[in-house]
Amino acid sequence: MSATPIVPTITEENRPFWDAARAERLEMQRCSACRHVRYPISAVCPRCLDAAAEWIELSGRGSVLSFVVFERAYNPAWADRVPYNVALIQLAEGPRMFSNVVGVPNEAVVVGMPVRVVFEPVAGTDVVLPRFAPE
Ligand SMILES: [Zn+2]
Repeated sequence: MSATPIVPTITEENRPFWDAARAERLEMQRCSACRHVRYPISAVCPRCLDAAAEWIELSGRGSVLSFVVFERAYNPAWADRVPYNVALIQLAEGPRMFSNVVGVPNEAVVVGMPVRVVFEPVAGTDVVLPRFAPE
């Protein structure tokens, strides 16, 4: 039996990101002033502090910058995924995001591995999570 899934809290600020993920697109904010592609989602640009931004679709390509493998479920919601990895993905457009590398055993995940975004619905919710699979 699975525990209640843990899903992100959807807010007015982050809704475009999650709406795009449901449509299988990876979108992030690009600063209208300095063109910096920013993530995590924020109200102002961390580089120039301008609030104006547009949502753009990213290529979904990147590489594994770092990762860890969890051998223990710290929450029952993840018990059926153990062992699972959490990876920091360096996206081609510049931002870095935490996610998981899927589609390969944890032992096959290596730093520098080229990956591409895939979208996985969370059962029992309307949330779709961006994860990454080897290119
Ligand atoms: Zn900016």
